[in-house]
Amino acid sequence: MLEEVQKNYGKLKFYINGQRVESKTETWGNVYNPAKDEVIAQVPFSTRDEAREAIQFAQEAFEKWRELPITTRLQYLFMIKFKLEEYYETLSRIVTQNHGKTIHEARGELRRAIESVESAISVAYTLAKGEHLDQVSQDVDESVVREPLGVFGIVTPFNFPVMVPFWFIPFAIVLGNTVVVKPSEITPIAMDYVVRVFEEVKLPQGVVNVVHGAKDVVDEFLSNRLVQGVTFVGSTRVGRYVYEGAGRFGKRAIVQAGAKNFVVVMPDADLNRVIPSIVSAFFGNAGQRCLAAANLVVVGSVYDEVKRKFVEASRQLRLGYGLDEGVDMGPLVTMDAKRRVVGYIEKGVGEGAKLLLDGRGVVVSDYPRGYFLGPTIFDEVTPEMVIAREEIFGPVACIIRAKSLDEAIDMINGSNYGNAASIFTSSGYYARKFRREVNAGNIGINVGVAQPMAFFPFGGRKESFFGVLHGQMDSVDFFTDRKVVIERW
Ligand code: NAD
Repeated sequence: MLEEVQKNYGKLKFYINGQRVESKTETWGNVYNPAKDEVIAQVPFSTRDEAREAIQFAQEAFEKWRELPITTRLQYLFMIKFKLEEYYETLSRIVTQNHGKTIHEARGELRRAIESVESAISVAYTLAKGEHLDQVSQDVDESVVREPLGVFGIVTPFNFPVMVPFWFIPFAIVLGNTVVVKPSEITPIAMDYVVRVFEEVKLPQGVVNVVHGAKDVVDEFLSNRLVQGVTFVGSTRVGRYVYEGAGRFGKRAIVQAGAKNFVVVMPDADLNRVIPSIVSAFFGNAGQRCLAAANLVVVGSVYDEVKRKFVEASRQLRLGYGLDEGVDMGPLVTMDAKRRVVGYIEKGVGEGAKLLLDGRGVVVSDYPRGYFLGPTIFDEVTPEMVIAREEIFGPVACIIRAKSLDEAIDMINGSNYGNAASIFTSSGYYARKFRREVNAGNIGINVGVAQPMAFFPFGGRKESFFGVLHGQMDSVDFFTDRKVVIERW
């Protein structure tokens, strides 16, 4: 069913214990359409009391939900999948409206969210099972059963307002847990709409709850004794805080954090394939992806050609409102985000990098107030520069020259981050060496954005990740504990 996106969503509500609840908070924030600089909703910043109430209801729901046979819990996931398919287009349009990414990118996000539900369905038949061994000693049998733990807090970033919550929700609930989700206060509207999916499939009340806000809700997740664990996806600064807090209060945590991803182009790469891939890797989602490429390392003689073709192709990208036809790139998510990225461009110029393409002056005539910033490409960047080291999270590419693959790998491994790295080459030797020697969680070989499918784990390394178990499929271990039973008969 396709509904037109609304002009204004008004005051967003919480979803607690199966009810839409108006917040009693006195603190509200504006939610924007970044292409138009228009306020399209108000988001409540929940008080700790409100977050506590949601957790309490989630705990009560857990006691009943865990008792349902897994085959029954599973049916809800099937229904959620089909409802998400039904609202696929509407939800994609809401994501575009609130986040700014193109409708094509938003549809991709929705597809990934649905794949997570499908993967969680498969878990129920396979990984949820325990282990058993008869006769470990005379007349003694030993087994391991997996049990759900209780309430989990799910904290999500602005850039994938549907996909990231769904990295965790379906896995947590199919295994018998309940959740309180805190969407990003910048892009909360899509999750607000997803609530109708839970309502329409009649998911038992309190199994999934949604509370809006920011730090106070997260602090309540960390300190509330009923919360068993927290998943966090967002910046490294906040991620570190969440991980430390989880440790202090003795909770489980999956923390997926910031990134500075490298793409290496070897002289033997097929440039006809490389150029479209890297344009999309650097400028897709306006560079606001944790897997977005940030540093382009070109090895050897192909440097000038790659540079020229990359600039030419990037110059062609059409900026605009993501709901309009033929738009390749949307705005940045907020005016603050744009200011921050422009600040990095100024810093790069100050550091002596050469601007080959400057997105600062771009004008989108139909949307003059939007937070647009065109593709920006720096040349003559060195690995020591701030623009090569820090996460910019916008459409800015830094081209770095390397003499050899070894030098390129050293640069990648010298970064504080380790989310993803890609190589373009036709050499099996280079590809294998890259795969083995690069210290990053996701490796792309002739793939610009190395995004794992939902039935694989997703995590980074170094300051891109804190914890042991990664997201998606790995979270089966996160959302269950194993109990060992030893029996003598
Ligand atoms: P952010 O860290 O600002 O916010 C993430 C979440 O933390 C939000 O829900 C926010 O409300 C909350 N938060 C903000 N400040 C807080 C505080 N002081 N205490 C507690 N909670 C707080 O991140 P963002 O700007 O929304 O998202 C962009 C970041 O997310 C980038 O760094 C990007 O690389 C990262 N990201 C990582 C992955 C991954 O899988 N590694 C995926 C997507 C995004």
